[in-house]
Amino acid sequence: MKIRKYPDPVLRIKSEDINESAKSLKNVIKQMTNVMKYEEGVGLAGNQIGITKRIIIIDVNEKPTVMINPVIKDHSKEKELQYEGCLSFPNFNVIVERYKEIDGEFLNSSGVKESIHLEGLYARAFQHEIDHLNGVLIIDYASPEDRFNYNIYITKEKD
Ligand SMILES: [Zn+2]
Repeated sequence: MKIRKYPDPVLRIKSEDINESAKSLKNVIKQMTNVMKYEEGVGLAGNQIGITKRIIIIDVNEKPTVMINPVIKDHSKEKELQYEGCLSFPNFNVIVERYKEIDGEFLNSSGVKESIHLEGLYARAFQHEIDHLNGVLIIDYASPEDRFNYNIYITKEKD
């Protein structure tokens, strides 16, 4: 299972809500968990392995958390600037402004609804992964110059 890298068009697809039972997602969850472990990422969205459904995994501290149909319910007024990377963008970091705190909701891997309050890196990762589900990528936050340079870089990498 390979990580889809920019400019793979699947990364621009707006993912669909998941209606099937969490049980039928067992395989997807297993694949995503394995990729995360292998790549040592902080987070992963379904479309990064070609699955255009609203499922993400975040692994900030102790163990990976699977979130199905995650949504932002509320956020702090305060925002924070910080460098962000992405498994779909090797060797690329962008300063992204994100809300400092987030109240989120999602279905867990058993299909049970959970509410969470997130801060710091966890809140940042949550916002980053929800961006993925909407087809939004870190390069969209980059300056025109950085965007240009990265596009040149990946073209050269292909040769
Ligand atoms: Zn990413």
